Amino acid sequence: MIRFASRILVVALALAAGLAHAAQPATVRVDYAHSGNALSEQYALERVLIEPLPWPGNAARPFDNTNRGQNRVEVVDAKTGDLLYSRDFSTVFGEWRTTEEANKISRSFEESVRFPKPDRPVRVRILKRDERNQFSVAWSVEVDTDAQEVVKKQPAAPAKPIPIHVSGPSPDKVDLLILGDGYTAADMKKFEADARRLTQHLFTVSPFRERARDFNVWALAVPTAESGISRPSTGVHHASPLGTRYDIFGSERYVLTLDNRALRDIAQHAPYEFIEILVNNETYGGGGIFGQFSTAAAGNEWANYLFVHEFGHHFAGLADEYYTSPVAYAAASTRMEPWEPNVTALRDPANIKWKRHVKTGTPLPTPWPKAEYEEASRAYQKKRAALRAANRPESEMSALFREDLKATQALFASKPHRHEVGAFEGANYEASGYYRPMMQCLMFDRSEAFCPVCQDGIADIIDLYAGSARQ
Ligand SMILES: [Zn+2]
Repeated sequence: MIRFASRILVVALALAAGLAHAAQPATVRVDYAHSGNALSEQYALERVLIEPLPWPGNAARPFDNTNRGQNRVEVVDAKTGDLLYSRDFSTVFGEWRTTEEANKISRSFEESVRFPKPDRPVRVRILKRDERNQFSVAWSVEVDTDAQEVVKKQPAAPAKPIPIHVSGPSPDKVDLLILGDGYTAADMKKFEADARRLTQHLFTVSPFRERARDFNVWALAVPTAESGISRPSTGVHHASPLGTRYDIFGSERYVLTLDNRALRDIAQHAPYEFIEILVNNETYGGGGIFGQFSTAAAGNEWANYLFVHEFGHHFAGLADEYYTSPVAYAAASTRMEPWEPNVTALRDPANIKWKRHVKTGTPLPTPWPKAEYEEASRAYQKKRAALRAANRPESEMSALFREDLKATQALFASKPHRHEVGAFEGANYEASGYYRPMMQCLMFDRSEAFCPVCQDGIADIIDLYAGSARQ
């Protein structure tokens, strides 16, 4: 009976979401090329289009004041210069730029920004962080969304969005779209089950748990011919509608799509502000870029963790708090205060940015069993690399991850400051010079909870999209 009633409620809410859309402006998308190398970058306009669905965002929250990400988009009145809309984000280009390859060649990536359709010509500005970490304009282009060359008609939806968790009209909620890649027509039931299972898990983790009613979750997958996505390091190459694959930038567990247009052309058929792509693979892997999308291997034993950790990058711009795993990026030569809310260079301990969580008397930096942890971590990384090199079954890798987590819990168990917020050295892929807020957090290892600083960072973004509905 309760099930039946809740089904009716979901349908009613989905209808309400549709009705509320009637009053919403259209969604504008500007596609552009972002190219360059480690030393220089360029932008060029590709197309302006009107997406098939109305703007899913909240008209009362046009400006992003969170100060996250490498970039910011600003939409201003072309005549007066008045700011109409802004959002912060990071890009795949920005990540690629920090890899070795960017010292050798130039590459081009397609990017998009979306905003509510204005009633007058606008100037769209892309800002980037300067050497002081402040935003300055990198590119700007005039856009008349009523001009003849704006693409106003889109192809029909290749698949229908499935309502997974609908809480109310899109403009009042965070709209999360779960896309599937590597699912065949026969795998569609599995895709829906994966999306439901991982959504359920997301809402067991604070602060998503307390704010579940601030979210709508939709799922959409375009069937593929073969199950699973490409994993070139093992000779597996599959065509897939989103172009998601493993081995991005030479990292075997890094899963992204570099085909932004394919992604946006599919995503536009559901209301969305955030995207998590589930790949129909067992092999451990994922990725997440602030304001773009995140990915997770839905068939992996650690899928719950992957889904939430990568979503932390995508949704709130959280940094990795770990530093002992090999990553695709080269070390940053300077130690500027990072914009990510959960890591600090600790230049001014008395004014640490998460001060409100630090109890009086907690030493900064905060001691922790760093040397022992690093020694154990080196041994673990060796085993991990050996398992991958020998292409061992995924179950062996999952078991190693369980063992590693258990060992870390045991090492940290009775240590002073175990459950305190402080400044623990080692974070953001660096063993020294960057500090994380707690000994352990979902952004540090495969543990189950976000530290209070990460929780704050997530809550800020929920407020930006659904601030009126705090419970
Ligand atoms: Zn954290």
